Amino acid sequence: MICIIGASLAGDMAAATLRQEGYAGPILLIGDEAEVPYDRPPLSKEALTGDAPESRFYLRAESWYAEQGIELRLGAPVTAIDPAAHTLRIGAVEVVKYEKLLITAGARARTLPGMEASPVPAYVVRTLEDARQLRAALRPGTRVAIVGAGVIGMEVAASASTRGCHVSVVDFADRVMARVLPPELSAYMAELHTSHGVDLLLDAGSVSLTATGIRTSKRGDIDSDLIVIGIGVVPNTELAAAAGLACRDGIIVDEYCRTSDADIYAAGDVTRYPNPFGGGDIRSENWKHAQNQAVTAARNMLGKEEAYGAVSSMWSDQYDVKLQTVGDIGTGAATLRGEANSRKFMLIYQNEAGVVLGALGINQAKDMRFVQMLVEKRAVVEPGLLADPKQDLRKLAA
Ligand SMILES: Cc1cc2nc3c(=O)[nH]c(=O)nc-3n(C[C@H](O)[C@H](O)[C@H](O)COP(=O)(O)OP(=O)(O)OC[C@H]3O[C@@H](n4cnc5c(N)ncnc54)[C@H](O)[C@@H]3O)c2cc1C
Repeated sequence: MICIIGASLAGDMAAATLRQEGYAGPILLIGDEAEVPYDRPPLSKEALTGDAPESRFYLRAESWYAEQGIELRLGAPVTAIDPAAHTLRIGAVEVVKYEKLLITAGARARTLPGMEASPVPAYVVRTLEDARQLRAALRPGTRVAIVGAGVIGMEVAASASTRGCHVSVVDFADRVMARVLPPELSAYMAELHTSHGVDLLLDAGSVSLTATGIRTSKRGDIDSDLIVIGIGVVPNTELAAAAGLACRDGIIVDEYCRTSDADIYAAGDVTRYPNPFGGGDIRSENWKHAQNQAVTAARNMLGKEEAYGAVSSMWSDQYDVKLQTVGDIGTGAATLRGEANSRKFMLIYQNEAGVVLGALGINQAKDMRFVQMLVEKRAVVEPGLLADPKQDLRKLAA
């Protein structure tokens, strides 16, 4: 029996991969949430703004799991793992034996002290239930204060503003999405938001909750009808740590997605893994990583020895902008392709030898696929070719 703890993107992908790879034995996919496994990216976007039924966000039809012979246990928290006995416990008493175990326990939203007791309702956005509650509260004219100008905070700002709310965003950082964007793109995204009426209070100092909203140490008080906390996530490592698995802000896995126990693997947001492009180990909190690492973990659980080497990539949708990044955009020299500050351009990053390290695209979904191929190949390209929109990136990547 292969058990998977966490019935979300990584767990679901791993279960599917096990079947695709011909594993015919029993698979138990265990999730503590009561919902059919669903996708999280829509939760800060169309789940807040659109009218699509929630089933649109499900990863698969509920019937698929039974058809595949995958036992799906929902509303079932795993409370302990005993690596020596090869067992795990669900809830208070049920003990299940596994041959191999995969942990895809993901991450939870970081909260602020006093949030539960806040007189002004305070929300995070991590689960479908979070999105349901926030959506119901986002009525036109509502004053929304968002703590955290990271990706989730800015996506919620775009959604709330689209719903006709008055939106303020505070952060101690002096620019938006500082963790994922270079300064010039932070400025671009900030301008996008202010043009939609969002009030950005950056370099705001420390933040606390008050009876009427939030207080910042440098930018004063913001009265609001509701508060959204978007200050990052905490990996769900407690179960693994209690079982004696090596953890450090994530469950530590090797390039084969194996934890410090030979029969226990981990994948997705919960892992800290060796950066395939060097520079120590990293933790990634994005969809592509969770999907790709889960596929590699599943294959390795079946005896393959594949190193996880996917190039990191993420996207974010805000208003009419699809922002995407791939690879390393923190170092190297940037070449502009397209018109800067327009609604369609790309910055491509290369090292001194001309190796394509990464790229950042605004509404460039098609071309980003080809740049990703260039990054994966560590291709050396003349910057002038990358800058010329008439040059077909598909051909350069071939
Ligand atoms: C609002 C939002 C918007 C996002 N937008 C984007 C985007 O636009 N682009 C992008 O690239 N990424 C985006 N992401 C990130 C992406 O969704 C995550 O990287 C991805 O969901 C990680 O998948 P995972 O399976 O590793 O972990 P998770 O999705 O966190 O799933 C882990 C599951 O394990 C369960 N679990 C934990 N402990 C236990 C236990 N003891 N027993 C049983 N079950 C347990 C959890 O409840 C959860 O259901 C977004 C995330 C959020 C929250």
